[in-house]
Amino acid sequence: MSRPRIGVAALGGTIAMTSESGREVTPTLAADDLIAAVPRLGEVAEVTATTLATRPSASVTSADLASVVEWAETQVATGASGIVVTQGTDSIEETAYWLDLHWDHPEPLVVTGAMRPPTTPGADGPANLLAAVLTASAQEARDRGVLVVMGDTVHTAVEVLKGRSSHPDAFVSRPFGPLGFLEEERLHLRAARARRPALPMTKGGTPPSVAVLETHLDDTGDVLDLVVRAGYGGVVIAGFGVGHVPERMVDSVQRAVDAEVVVVLATRAGDGPTHEASYGYAGSEVDLLARGVVPAGWLHPRKARVLLVELLRLGAGPGEVREEFAQRGAVRPETSS
Ligand code: ASP
Repeated sequence: MSRPRIGVAALGGTIAMTSESGREVTPTLAADDLIAAVPRLGEVAEVTATTLATRPSASVTSADLASVVEWAETQVATGASGIVVTQGTDSIEETAYWLDLHWDHPEPLVVTGAMRPPTTPGADGPANLLAAVLTASAQEARDRGVLVVMGDTVHTAVEVLKGRSSHPDAFVSRPFGPLGFLEEERLHLRAARARRPALPMTKGGTPPSVAVLETHLDDTGDVLDLVVRAGYGGVVIAGFGVGHVPERMVDSVQRAVDAEVVVVLATRAGDGPTHEASYGYAGSEVDLLARGVVPAGWLHPRKARVLLVELLRLGAGPGEVREEFAQRGAVRPETSS
């Protein structure tokens, strides 16, 4: 049987890190090095390797991600059955969602990395790379958008979070759990959910400034006022509970809305949605939404920021922003196929 062709691109991260001193690690390895470390890959797929960047993932930019999409589009146009991107795990929850917003192909695009560098006992990079290539090769993974595979567990880009700063089992999908698992090199996935159409990708230029502000006890709104004065185009407020801020902050929220800054309301709880009709006091979600704030729904504040930047970059007006958040922040229905 012929092997599927899978394009693998490396961006850096712990999976590609080595050490000169024998202690701290930095990204040095290229995609070819990662492939060479996993001989089994050659048996399951015909892998083509490309190094697009060699960075820690906190320094990956949306311009890097745009080049990933362009490279991946060339790969599928020339016959690749799937795509794997290796990168640092720190920012996967944002980068995978960015890629998912712009990936408009049935071929799976799978992001993976490693929590332990190749220089340590129990390095997880080789197993994650193999699992990612197997996932990218699988028929069941088609039409699922961008997936994140870590520790033989498959997550959707919209739900995945780095839930722990260290340890190989750092990744979680909140609140519904992972999409599936690999067992004996086979993929087992839950039913697919309907996907929103991809957003067009705009190239070049500086991304619009969008801040994420987590509210807290005694928040006066001063920082929000500063952000508005600094000319930010949008703000995601990570509110208390289902979307609340202290009463004394409400005037700042109103000033932001009046200044035509898009204000999105998410929850800082880390799990669960914002509400729209539960609480009616000053600073509650009902109060804030009545002032023109946009609810993030089920989107984590970090995902909400990525979405808002991309919408503002496309020049979306208030109605489109509200509609996109209503759709992409909802739990999408399962599809029958
Ligand atoms: N600790 C990170 C990683 O797991 C470093 C990074 O994100 O680049 O790859």
